[in-house]
Amino acid sequence: MESPNDTKNEEPVTGFRIRSGPTYAFALVVFALVAAGVSLHAQTVRMGADTPPRPGAVDTTVTITVEALKPGVYAAKISYVWTGWVELGDGILVIDTGFSEAGARALADTIRARSGPQPIRYVVNTHQHEDHTGGDRYFATLGATFIAQEKVAGEIQHLLTWAPGETGDSLSHSGLTPTVKKISLRASYGGTKRPVRVIHLGRPAHTAGDLVVYLPKQGVLFAGDLVSNRSVPWLLDPDMSVNGWLQSLDSLLTPAFKIETLVPGHGVLGKPQASIQFTYHYLLDVREKASTVAAWGTKLNQIRDWGYLGAYEGLEFYEEVHFMNMRRLYNEAKGIKTPGRKNMHVFKRT
Ligand SMILES: [Zn+2]
Repeated sequence: MESPNDTKNEEPVTGFRIRSGPTYAFALVVFALVAAGVSLHAQTVRMGADTPPRPGAVDTTVTITVEALKPGVYAAKISYVWTGWVELGDGILVIDTGFSEAGARALADTIRARSGPQPIRYVVNTHQHEDHTGGDRYFATLGATFIAQEKVAGEIQHLLTWAPGETGDSLSHSGLTPTVKKISLRASYGGTKRPVRVIHLGRPAHTAGDLVVYLPKQGVLFAGDLVSNRSVPWLLDPDMSVNGWLQSLDSLLTPAFKIETLVPGHGVLGKPQASIQFTYHYLLDVREKASTVAAWGTKLNQIRDWGYLGAYEGLEFYEEVHFMNMRRLYNEAKGIKTPGRKNMHVFKRT
């Protein structure tokens, strides 16, 4: 039997701030995207939404694709977003919860089917975006403690305490008050068999408070949205920093991380280096084009004419997200601050 260590937050909690931004109404049509490039061992389960969607959401179908990465370590793609879980020895640590309660229920069922009826001890939110935290309220009803970087923990706390609608949901009916643990730089979970390191790379990147989940013994990294592979990343968070993001990706490439298997936030499972490089090059390419064009004095309203990047055309989210990314970086190059958009759910896939 493993004896799990107590969790430890090695860094003092400093500079915690709560941001209360606008909540965007979102329209979401979920397509069942089963990534090409996942292994033959992938298991796909299609499930209809079994609960009424939250106001504004149109959850029609949830697709879960599971990858057994190592004994006791799994990745699960819920439609277009990667999640995962680790058997700690005395329970389960879940990494992100997808975009909806329906997805979270399907994920919890999948965990039970693969790992047995172990308690869900922790949910690590790699960041606060709705497509990664939409199932948090359901996992809270299972008794999970939440782990978030301190800069975004306020938003996650808000999500977990806010009572939805007039009638509420399973969490508000449960009377439970979930705990959110705030991580400054790093914390450790699990026993000697599968130690789990939850790490903030120290700078704003995809958001102000990205976390990665690293299993040094298994060489597995859950990168959250720091890495998108063959899928256009979301550069629209108000606190997104291209420089911080590039530096964070650089740190993932240092010998401090020995990554054999990398689970991105979006896209397909691929070789770790190639997945990191994909995101790295996209960031460089989009910034270079945006700043070059801004320097020429080209008008922003012609963005559809100049904003294309042929190398990424046809990839997931290219049509929906790429031109918004380009607009953001064009404005940044012009020194114009834009409010940004917090969540991926603001676009509708058609
Ligand atoms: Zn995100």
